[in-house]
Amino acid sequence: MAEQEQQGQQSPEPPEPEQLVCSRCGTVAEGTPPTWTCSVENGVRHYFCDACARANLRAIEGRLDSDWW
Ligand SMILES: [Zn+2]
Repeated sequence: MAEQEQQGQQSPEPPEPEQLVCSRCGTVAEGTPPTWTCSVENGVRHYFCDACARANLRAIEGRLDSDWW
């Protein structure tokens, strides 16, 4: 009987990256700044820094794709 290591262990969600990169201006932040905004577009998470989030607050709330900006 061959023992096989179990693969595909239960992992509901992948760990969040240690660094976030603003999808608009490319600013890098360590951890998850509370002022940053996470926008899900087509199932992909995009993060925006405080400045970009404020500038595009309406677009984000309107769930518009960043391509529209
Ligand atoms: Zn930004």
